[in-house]
Amino acid sequence: MRPALRRLFLLALAHDAEAALRADGRWRTRCLHCRSTLEFDADGTPLGHGTLEHVVPQAWFGKRAAAALTREVGDAANDARNLALACAGCNHDKGKGPDARGPNDERAREVVAALLARRLERWAVPREPGEVRD
Ligand SMILES: [Zn+2]
Repeated sequence: MRPALRRLFLLALAHDAEAALRADGRWRTRCLHCRSTLEFDADGTPLGHGTLEHVVPQAWFGKRAAAALTREVGDAANDARNLALACAGCNHDKGKGPDARGPNDERAREVVAALLARRLERWAVPREPGEVRD
């Protein structure tokens, strides 16, 4: 996995209130959608079916219809507020559903707005490196 992508995984984990770096050196958290357990190596590499999700789809940035949503994450697709961990199945379904319908679709905007609210409920300030929580 590219180091730049691993860094984004770590950024998402560090700002996820449900993520914990465990004593065995692995991160554990839950899928933003279905809450299945996801595990990551200490360097951010997914162990299993964890994927990085852009809550507001990357393709929506710069589109007027999505401006209210992209503004909430600083108009930056890779802002930590816009990054979440999701299982591969859920991420794939979102990509084919609301993401693909685009920001001009009112229902797609509603789905993404609800998901962004859920992600921001899980917002956390980064923990100290090496801090272990259960
Ligand atoms: Zn899931």
